[in-house]
Formats: sequence, C-alpha cells, structure tokens
Amino acid sequence: MANYKQILVAVDFSEHSERAIERAQELAIEDGGALNLIHVVDYFPAMDAAYDGALAFSVDMTDELVSASKNRLKVLAEKYQLKDEQLFVEVGAIRNEVIDKADKHGTDLIVIGSHGWRGIDLLLGSTADSILHHAKCDVLVVRID
Ligand code: AMP
Repeated sequence: MANYKQILVAVDFSEHSERAIERAQELAIEDGGALNLIHVVDYFPAMDAAYDGALAFSVDMTDELVSASKNRLKVLAEKYQLKDEQLFVEVGAIRNEVIDKADKHGTDLIVIGSHGWRGIDLLLGSTADSILHHAKCDVLVVRID
C-alpha cells in the first residue's frame, strides 16, 4: 500500500463529503501524511447581458459564497483539528480547481465522495467521475450508499 504524504479532500459540505474526510483522516494517520481540504465555489454571477436585458442589474454573490465557504471549512477544521493552511477555497470549475490545487500542492492522493448533494441516481456522481478521469495522482472515491 502506498504511503500518502499529501492528501487533498474535495468537500462539498454534504454529509457524504464528511465521510470522505473521515476516511482520509484515517489514511493520513496511518501514513503520517498531511490532510488538506478544498471547497470550490462553482458559481457564475447572473449577468444582465446573458439574459439580454431581462434582469435590471447584475447579481454577483461570489464574495459571499467564498466567505461562507471559508467559515464552513473552519468549522470542519475545528472538528478534525486542522490548521488554516490546510484549508483552501477556490472559485471556478470544480474538477479543474481540485486537480490544479492537487498538482501545485504536491498532492499524492485526492479523496472524494462517490456522490454529493445531487443524490445517488448515478453509479458515480458527475464531479467524482470527472476528477477520477483527469487527476494525475491517485484518487480514492469513498462509496456513499
Ligand atoms: P457529485 O459528483 O457532485 O455528486 O459530488 C461527488 C463528490 O465530489 C462530493 O462528495 C465531493 O467530494 C466532491 N465535490 C462536489 N462538489 C464539490 C465542490 N463544490 N467543491 C469540492 N468538492 C466537491
């Protein structure tokens, strides 16, 4: 079994991704590795231009969502005894941001839940599937029943 030294858990704040954190923490303890959490704010502002004048103004909640995400990660950090430097919030496409952070941070294992908020209609959620197919390091998909 590989010894994972830098483990990155993709967190969507669903109870499913908490299961992924717990599994990742077990591995980090076994391997003496570092555990890091990332949440991606996958949000596009509603721009008036996109709706051809249908909106009276543009609405951009990115800053609020980033701030709320940082607060929620801090709650998880207290629960799992992580430091600020182990928490990441990025804005963009989930797959790209998770893989980019993994590459830049020397991650050797990405941990994701098999499903997130969108339920378990599919065998594997679309985010999980996409990360699994594009990551350059190992990926552990924690099965959510
Ligand atoms: P999904 O494929 O959307 O059902 O989600 C599967 C898994 O992808 C979740 O359990 C999380 O580990 C991860 N994930 C989903 N959305 C996000 C997000 N916005 N930021 C980080 N990880 C996410």
